[in-house]
Amino acid sequence: MDDKIRIRDSDISYNVDYRNIKYPRLELKTGKLLLVLPKNYKEKEVLLEKHKDWIYEKTMLIKIANKLAKQERIQLLKNERFEETIRQYVERYSSVLGVNINNIRIRRMKSKWASCSPKRNITFNRFMQYLPEELIAYVALHEIAHLIERKHNKRFWSIVEKEFPDYAEKERKLFIYWFAIQGTLEI
Ligand SMILES: [Zn+2]
Repeated sequence: MDDKIRIRDSDISYNVDYRNIKYPRLELKTGKLLLVLPKNYKEKEVLLEKHKDWIYEKTMLIKIANKLAKQERIQLLKNERFEETIRQYVERYSSVLGVNINNIRIRRMKSKWASCSPKRNITFNRFMQYLPEELIAYVALHEIAHLIERKHNKRFWSIVEKEFPDYAEKERKLFIYWFAIQGTLEI
């Protein structure tokens, strides 16, 4: 059975998964809150309390995303020139940031828009072909910035901000699109 937490005006249900890990984390990959906890972890309530604003905000965004997807106000248009488009932006931003890219791959991924490897290969999620071009551009820049700074820290965001001063808005939109695409394509 699902557990529930009441935050402000909402009952938010979640699942708990105990694993052989060191630190607890919260996941929303499927649209439902999942607490991934180390075995014998006893601080569940403290953890939920600490992150309740984050949980609430993300849950509300997922609701909006699902609603928009249903009403088809987010029109999922497939960009037929997607591969070409992504290559153009990778070329542009790798030159702006002075970063060499080894190779670009495009494949279906279940949990993220893109990833990069220490060998400077970048993998983009094939579902990006449903994103508006401004967001394709943003994902390209975001991922290339990770070749300079791996973590989402101050340094990372200051690199991103130079090209996308509205990066927070772009991240919010990407989050909505993630669930809109999942809801529409039933991935
Ligand atoms: Zn990132």
